[in-house]
Amino acid sequence: MTTINKDYLKLQGSYLFSTIARKVREYKADNPQAEVISLGIGDVTQPLAPAIIDALHKAVDEMGHAETFRGYAPDLGYAFLRETIVKNDYEARGCRITPDEIFVSDGAKSDSGNIQEIFGKENVIAVCDPVYPVYVDTNVMAGRTGAYSPEKECYDNVVYMPCLAENGFLPQLPEKTPDLIYLCFPNNPTGSAIQKDELQKWVDYANEKNAVIIYDAAYEAYITEAGVPHSIYECDGARTCAIELRSFSKNAGFTGLRLGFTVVPKDLVREGTVLRDLWARRHGTKFNGAPYIVQRAGEAVYSPEGKEQLKEQVGYYMRNAEMIRTELASAGFEVSGGVNAPYIWMKTPEGMSSWDFFDRLLAGANVVGTPGCGFGAAGEGFFRLTAFGSYENTCEAIRRIKSL
Ligand code: PLP
Repeated sequence: MTTINKDYLKLQGSYLFSTIARKVREYKADNPQAEVISLGIGDVTQPLAPAIIDALHKAVDEMGHAETFRGYAPDLGYAFLRETIVKNDYEARGCRITPDEIFVSDGAKSDSGNIQEIFGKENVIAVCDPVYPVYVDTNVMAGRTGAYSPEKECYDNVVYMPCLAENGFLPQLPEKTPDLIYLCFPNNPTGSAIQKDELQKWVDYANEKNAVIIYDAAYEAYITEAGVPHSIYECDGARTCAIELRSFSKNAGFTGLRLGFTVVPKDLVREGTVLRDLWARRHGTKFNGAPYIVQRAGEAVYSPEGKEQLKEQVGYYMRNAEMIRTELASAGFEVSGGVNAPYIWMKTPEGMSSWDFFDRLLAGANVVGTPGCGFGAAGEGFFRLTAFGSYENTCEAIRRIKSL
């Protein structure tokens, strides 16, 4: 008889976005005239930049001719892209990373979910609370949980690090020593960023404890302040303790095109094994490469025109972020984020629960956001707004929230 992977049964329901969609559907059914604006989902809305469209067209044409046709991509990704990444994202920032430490993929969601496969089942993981849910769910699927503790309402081998207002929504070093530490900066959902000296403490801690940091830098392009590192490899010693995840989704609008990469330095060794080689084995066995045309589009992100156009695109979203942050703050809301990230994290007024505030905003202002509790217990009493809408819709949404 076939049995199933029972670890999947331990997953908590992923109700957040489906519940939001249901509530909006029901509200619209009752109020067909309502013009609902969503600042909820973290997806981009601006079209691909012209430099990327040009690169796509050119690559599509190449695929139509025998002399320039490409089949399977090399396991790690095309050298033209890996070399461009190294030059622009790492060498330009003084980080020592080589092209054979870059693994091109179809995005950071896959990589953040898959990377745990190269680690032992007994490892203790530490995650921020609130958190991008993929880190915990994929470890639960893999059975990396330990026993369930009913009084703490969590698994023994999953350490939650509360990110609270009093600490600028940054995690503190955990009491129980973890083996794998997931950090995401700039952060989704809180929009917080970490200074280099703070991140250095995590790198030192991981090296001291022989732990590995999985550093999700999907929102790196939104950093505006000096002193905020764009890569964990800006910290001394990160090559011996950190894996970095990057994405083209939010810096270049590739959420539908799909492209990302993971950096695994060769100096990262555990139990005598070079983790880069383990990941190369995993990547080569289970992944057959991002499409050639998409990798060419990724290369165009770093061209002079691409850089210029994308700076403008990211600037467009950050103008929304600044407007949301300053307008809500001037109206007396407690808000953070939105300076180095496209997310604004607001405290719900009058101690309302995240869902009560969601309902009030939907009914009173026809605006949709994301309840903070959907990202973890420490998100209760908070609400996430995204800067990914159009400027006009975002202005209108904020006007409505303020008049509420
Ligand atoms: N990591 C974080 C923190 C995210 O918020 C997201 C998407 O919202 C991703 C990864 C996924 O990125 P990608 O589109 O490259 O899969």
